[in-house]
Amino acid sequence: MAIQTVGIIGAGTMGNGIAQACAVAGVKVVMVDIAQAAVDKGLATVSGSLDRLIKKEKLTAEQKTAALALIKGSTNYEDLKGAQLVIEAATENHALKLKILKQVDEMLAPEVIIASNTSSISITQLAAATSRADRFIGMHFFNPVPMMALVELIRGYLTSDATHDTVKELAERLGKSPITVKNAPGFVVNRILVPMINEAFFVLSEGIATAEDIDAGMKLGCNQPIGPLALADMIGLDVCLAVMEVYLEQFGDSKYRPCPLLKEMVAAGQLGRKTGRGVYTY
Ligand code: NAD
Repeated sequence: MAIQTVGIIGAGTMGNGIAQACAVAGVKVVMVDIAQAAVDKGLATVSGSLDRLIKKEKLTAEQKTAALALIKGSTNYEDLKGAQLVIEAATENHALKLKILKQVDEMLAPEVIIASNTSSISITQLAAATSRADRFIGMHFFNPVPMMALVELIRGYLTSDATHDTVKELAERLGKSPITVKNAPGFVVNRILVPMINEAFFVLSEGIATAEDIDAGMKLGCNQPIGPLALADMIGLDVCLAVMEVYLEQFGDSKYRPCPLLKEMVAAGQLGRKTGRGVYTY
C-alpha cells in the first residue's frame, strides 16, 4: 500500500515541518491541532518556510502554491479519516499521547497505520494503547524537518514488516534517508548524542580544556558542524539533563549519570540560548 494522504496530529514545530515535507513531495496532508490559532500558525510557518526556499531558488512560486494546496488544516479529528497514515506529533506528554492514540485508534479504519514522532516515549508502550500494535511505528523526524535528511523508523515489539516497509517507502519519497531502529530509550541518535554532550560537561568541569577549545576540538577533530557545548546551549541544558536522567533510570547503568556541572547550571537557571546564558553568554 502506497501512502497518498498523511494525517498529522499537532501543527507545532514538528507537525508543520512534516506537513511541508509531505506537501512538497506531492503527498496530501490533513494537519489537525486543538485550536484554530495553532492550525493557522502551523500553516503560516509552512508558507514562510516555502518563501525562504523560493528566495534560495530551491522552489518556484508555482511549486509553493501547489504544495500549500495539498495541506488542509483542521481542528476536527474526523478529517483524519481519509489518510492511510496518521503521524502523531503532539506535545511530548505521555498521558496526552495515550489519550490521543486511543481516540484515533477507535476512529480510524483498521488498515490505517499510526506513527508517533515522540523523542523519548517507548513505541512499544504507545502501540499497546491501540488495537493495532502491528500497524504502529515510530517515525522520528529531526528539526528542522524540511532540512534534515534523517528519519529514525522505530520498530515496536509487534511492528510488522509490511508497516515498516510502507512507512520507509514514504520517508524515501519525502527525500529522507531513513534508518531502522529497535525500540530502546533514545533510539540511536539521541542515545549517542546526549551522553556525548554530558561527557563534554565532565571534560569542562574537570578543567581539562576551555569550553571554546572543547568545541573547537570536536568541530575540527570530528567534523561536527557545531561543538557539543554550543549544541547543548541550543537544545537547552534542562532538556539535556532530563534526557540523561531518563537514560539513567531506564538503563539502570551508572554510565548515564548526569554531570554535576550540568545539574548545577540547570539549578541556577542557566539553560542556554533560551535564557540568554548557558555555557556561553548570548
Ligand atoms: P510543539 O509544542 O511545537 O507542538 C505541539 C503541538 O501539539 C502544539 O501545536 C499543540 O497545540 C498540539 N497539541 C497538543 N495537544 C493536542 C491534541 N490533543 N491534539 C492535537 N494537537 C495537540 O512541539 P514539537 O516540538 O512539534 O514536538 C512534537 C513532538 O515531536 C513531540 O513528541 C516531540 O518530542 C517530538 N520531536 C520534537 C523535536 C524537536 O526538535 N522539537 C524533534 C523530534 C521529535
